Amino acid sequence: MIVEVDARSGFCFGVVKAIETAERLLADAHELYCIGDIVHNGQEVDRLRQLGMSVVDTDSLPQLAGKHVLIRAHGEPPSTYALAQTHGVMLTDATCPVVLRLQQRVKHAWEHIRNQGGTVIIYGKKGHAEVIGIVGQTQGEAVVVEQPADLHGIALNAPLELFSQTTMEPQQYQQLANVLRTMLPPDAQLTVHDTICRQVANRRSELAQFAAMHDVLIFVGGRKSSNAKTLFTTCQQTNSRSHFVASPSDLQPNWFANAQRVGVCGATSTPQWLMEAVAKRVHEL
Ligand code: SF4
Repeated sequence: MIVEVDARSGFCFGVVKAIETAERLLADAHELYCIGDIVHNGQEVDRLRQLGMSVVDTDSLPQLAGKHVLIRAHGEPPSTYALAQTHGVMLTDATCPVVLRLQQRVKHAWEHIRNQGGTVIIYGKKGHAEVIGIVGQTQGEAVVVEQPADLHGIALNAPLELFSQTTMEPQQYQQLANVLRTMLPPDAQLTVHDTICRQVANRRSELAQFAAMHDVLIFVGGRKSSNAKTLFTTCQQTNSRSHFVASPSDLQPNWFANAQRVGVCGATSTPQWLMEAVAKRVHEL
């Protein structure tokens, strides 16, 4: 049996940048607080915890005066920066440049249409950290939609600006935009912004090719990662013998019956070392 690790899977540049920033700060201070998990991968969070990083939420900021606190790649709403400043927290901002650009575009669009009664619509997961950061650019006024049914109730006779969370599935975003277009009155003003991250969009077709080349596919990802769930769906659509694991211990020997080529791949939040550990365990089984 041949076991191959997908060389194109693994951390995206936004996550790499955030982790490198954390490692640099930990090397200097041996103590760092991160707002939320730095990446949706429990093993990587544990590795950084052992180096001195603690995960906190924004409610803890008032107790962290004088401490180093990291903003992860997902970004934060303006209220977090204000709270940190009020309480003397030393913030380091590792928001991914792609997310930062999206936040700026949403803020600009909202400022432009707010006085005309317009609506900023965000296609994304309600409660997701990146979405909270984006909605914060509109003082909480943007409407988050997860599916076409959520579009009902939006005032369609005023300007509309549609954006997507960076990790959403491109085709589904297009479908949602098309449904919205069919709902509009003739003189409606809708602008659809292309804000899906190219690292994610390209990863889908690359993964589909990798999945098609193997008898069995093992997808390694964090159970809380929206990117992992989306990419795993792509693998399943291409290869019905695709399995999702969070760690080597999730592997089941019966998955590999009569398999000659096994592929190991992962999400943009999956560390390379974890995919290697899973591949090693497949060999052992
Ligand atoms: S998936 Fe794209 S937008 Fe999100 S952190 Fe990675 S590079 Fe940035």
